[in-house]
Amino acid sequence: MLPFSRVTIIGLGLIGSSLARSIRQYMPTVRVTGHDADPQVREIGRAIDLCDDIADTAGAAVTDADLVVLCVPVRAMGVAAADFADDLPADAIVSDVGSCKVDVLAQLSAALPGRAIIPAHPVAGTENSGPEAGFATLFQGRWCIVTPPAGADPAAVERVAEFWRRVGADVETMEPAHHDLVLAVTSHLPHLIAYTIVGTASDLEDVTQSEVIKYSAGGFRDFTRIAASDPTMWRDVFLANKDAVLEMLQRFSEDLSALQRAIRWDDGDALFNLFTRTRAIRRSIIEQGQDDPKPDFGRKH
Ligand code: NAP
Repeated sequence: MLPFSRVTIIGLGLIGSSLARSIRQYMPTVRVTGHDADPQVREIGRAIDLCDDIADTAGAAVTDADLVVLCVPVRAMGVAAADFADDLPADAIVSDVGSCKVDVLAQLSAALPGRAIIPAHPVAGTENSGPEAGFATLFQGRWCIVTPPAGADPAAVERVAEFWRRVGADVETMEPAHHDLVLAVTSHLPHLIAYTIVGTASDLEDVTQSEVIKYSAGGFRDFTRIAASDPTMWRDVFLANKDAVLEMLQRFSEDLSALQRAIRWDDGDALFNLFTRTRAIRRSIIEQGQDDPKPDFGRKH
């Protein structure tokens, strides 16, 4: 039996539109209703037939939902939830896809007191945004981390977990604070480093912009993909997961200083040992099916 039969998606960008497409592909009997604050996004959604219905207001979108999934930037979650609070059916479950969980849970609990809130984070995405960037298979073989608040109803948690399994994800359950720490190191810090490197390269005065672009295949190009990610989404992630990101940044700075020292003092063993360890991590990621094993990420040459 399907875990939900009437799903409402609030925010029809990359993740919301991918979720709408996935539901229609893998759970075709589920009725999907959408809403986005941006009228232009609603128009595009209707033009590409993203959902069974796209409502002009959040309240109208949730009136008969049994699951509402918020797919808006993390710092907009509370405002978006408050928008439909009065129209939410009593037995509906509210979830979200936000990239950080402690802050989002606090926002949703404040906006929807006493309601069933089961947050989740599909660890899947691309550097693109907007309703046309989504695709139905985005969550296939990817992890979705469900982060229920203390005391959540286990049956509601299981329904949300089953929902994500149905669109192809592997589900793990975690405490919200632990999720934020893990994602700070696996996702948020790498994005911060990419933004820094690309920013530094573009600021260099003795290397021209055209040289940076021309020779980008030397490693820089892979950072530019990450650094092209949505500015609103990532601004919100760093501000909402401030403590965990600052903690990981401190650890990273210390490790960077150790590397700096190894280079300065010709400590080749330290460099070689670290690079051997990191190569093994890359191999495990490929073994676990989390990336393309082809050379150069499968790019055509
Ligand atoms: P996106 O493509 O920019 O889409 C977000 C959409 O939400 C936009 O159309 C935006 O409209 C709309 N929106 C903003 N505030 C709203 C509100 N109050 N009510 C209704 N709609 C509102 O972003 P995304 O990449 O899909 O990210 C959405 C969420 O998924 C974020 O919380 C992010 O942390 C999470 N996530 C992202 C990824 C990823 O790789 N991108 C992966 C996993 C999870 P405007 O354009 O007018 O602002």
